[in-house]
Amino acid sequence: MITIIDGKKTSEEIKSEIATRVKEIVDAGGKKPHLAAVLVGNDGASQTYVGAKVKACDQVGFDSTLVRLEETISEEELLTVVEDINQNPAIDGLIVQLPLPKHISVEKVTNKIKPEKDVDGFTPANVGRMTLGWPAYVAATPYGIVELLKRYQIETSGKHCVVIGRSHIVGSPMSILMARNEYPGNCTVTLTHSRTKNLPEIAKTADILIVALGKPEFVTADMVKEGAVVIDVGIHRVDDSSKKSGFRLIGDVKFDEVSQKASAITPVPGGVGPMTIASLLFNTLLAAEGKVYGN
Ligand code: NAP
Repeated sequence: MITIIDGKKTSEEIKSEIATRVKEIVDAGGKKPHLAAVLVGNDGASQTYVGAKVKACDQVGFDSTLVRLEETISEEELLTVVEDINQNPAIDGLIVQLPLPKHISVEKVTNKIKPEKDVDGFTPANVGRMTLGWPAYVAATPYGIVELLKRYQIETSGKHCVVIGRSHIVGSPMSILMARNEYPGNCTVTLTHSRTKNLPEIAKTADILIVALGKPEFVTADMVKEGAVVIDVGIHRVDDSSKKSGFRLIGDVKFDEVSQKASAITPVPGGVGPMTIASLLFNTLLAAEGKVYGN
């Protein structure tokens, strides 16, 4: 029997656990965790993502601050805004929504975020700490995947994990986390990318296949071993006139055929996607409680 790994349900469970913890903190006389989100410009998708994050804060009882800035803001001015939030003791977590306008260096802005407030886990300090196996804010998507594996009690020790895609936000951190000497982890990991030769053959040797390359329905049944666990990170809109919205979402995995072979699989939508906001909230709670860097 195949297990459909339900990210929507799991993310709701996590949010409910966070809400319970916030209530305990407040009942004990503590302050609510507080997330600040910085949004530069009017990009539609970015506004939707930030809006969802702010709404989720509300749902679990966090305070949130949305700082909206003009597209034309200078890099210098943005760095000052970030530094002000760094110094504001009322704010526990800070995210700067990407992408930024072309005239602003993502590297400089990311590097300006105080690691203790970097709940997106993008700063060199947190990436380094994660790599060392130290307490760290782990980026939302990899963290969400780890949490799904844990909550579905997927056995990972000694398994061969193949990761497709080596981006800084998904594939690379995923490969590091799956190789860690803890659970979930202890896998033998193969990290693949666009220059990998014989990718279908390599993918077929995976006990756990994590797919994050950004190509719709790239992974087909013939690339998957019988009984493999398949995690689909990809997310794509395709036109669908039968839907009210005019589109539907698909992943990097051909779900219909791969689900015939896998022992467990994340669907799209409703798999990895919903976990990202839950991970961000969890990191913000950790920040408020000083669980990563101490108080
Ligand atoms: P990305 O930055 O574009 O990286 C894609 C990676 O896939 C690169 O390492 C690239 O190799 C590799 N690749 C491309 N074509 C390949 C091929 N034919 N064979 C093997 N490897 C190939 O993408 P990303 O940001 O990691 O995102 C990947 C997908 O996940 C996208 O669909 C994105 O929308 C989705 N995503 C979803 C969530 C979520 O919350 N569900 C979060 C983040 C991303 P090179 O390094 O050699 O170029």
